Amino acid sequence: MPELPEVETTIAGLRSVLQGAVLARVEPRRADLRFPIPVDLRQRLTGATVTNLSRRAKYGLIETDRGDMMIFHLGMSGRWRIDPAEIGAHDHLLLETGGGRLLSLNDPRRFGSIDLVRSDTWTSYAPFTRMGPEPLGPDFDVARFAAVLEGKATSIKAALLDQRIVAGLGNIYVCEALNMTGIAPTRAAGKISRPRLALLVESIRDVLAAAIVAGGSTLRDYARPDGELGYFSKQWRVYGREGGLCACGGTVQRRVDGGRSTFFCPKCQK
Ligand code: ZN
Repeated sequence: MPELPEVETTIAGLRSVLQGAVLARVEPRRADLRFPIPVDLRQRLTGATVTNLSRRAKYGLIETDRGDMMIFHLGMSGRWRIDPAEIGAHDHLLLETGGGRLLSLNDPRRFGSIDLVRSDTWTSYAPFTRMGPEPLGPDFDVARFAAVLEGKATSIKAALLDQRIVAGLGNIYVCEALNMTGIAPTRAAGKISRPRLALLVESIRDVLAAAIVAGGSTLRDYARPDGELGYFSKQWRVYGREGGLCACGGTVQRRVDGGRSTFFCPKCQK
């Protein structure tokens, strides 16, 4: 599943093709993904110039000079392909630039989404209205983080996955950041000291930033040789490493809560 760093890397790759480009062809190839694709997508985007590309949580934002913003989510299996050699059954949206570059949004499982809003109202787009701060942005700091967690009996892992507390963090990065900080995933969110929360904020930023750098360097020119954007593998500290060795010498364990795996080291995470 694409996580925040993959979306960030995807945006960088799309920017290399789309920034300043005219959308000469906009071709949805089906009526819906997880949700319906706006019926006026083609009409509103064709002939427009892309003025900006950015990210909010795990959503990609593509703005045009007509005041529209296309918002996409990659769901479970979505990816953009640059200049694909051939178009297949899972290529659900094609964008062609005036310069002849072709982009395809490919999503076999179709849990992704494509939407269109006016740029000046994008913050009121439903998924964004109750969303917490960006983990890499200036609003995610220890003072606000501590204030939000105060009195919370829920586990720190559940709190970090709550998009209202911090936006866009997925299971992998939560497991990794907790291991880096030495905090047990089950610890009550409201019972963690301020200095440890400060370390946790730093760890979250570090693990995301390192993944973005690794993604950018793994994907030369942001795309794999087959043109796919956004997927890269990395050696994790604990994620997916049940039975493996933690950096502290302990053994990585896995537990399952509500169908979701947590990887942690009981020796150094308290
Ligand atoms: Zn350990």
